[in-house]
Amino acid sequence: MTLRQKITLTIGVLFMGLMLLTAGGRPLLRIAGGLAALDGLFLHWLWYRCPGCGGRLNWTARWTYCPHCGAWIDYDKQ
Ligand SMILES: [Zn+2]
Repeated sequence: MTLRQKITLTIGVLFMGLMLLTAGGRPLLRIAGGLAALDGLFLHWLWYRCPGCGGRLNWTARWTYCPHCGAWIDYDKQ
């Protein structure tokens, strides 16, 4: 999986969870939504790293270069 796919997947899971959480369905659905949202956040935190040095990237920005080692981040690398 490329970094780009990981980012898309985790953000997709996060938003799906948030939608379930705020849709106001059954309590069980809302709990499942909350868990999915947390999962998405956790996976994003886990996966959004520099492929070079493994440093964690701050997810408030879309990095072109790693803030730790300065390497160019290849979002399409497998
Ligand atoms: Zn780096």
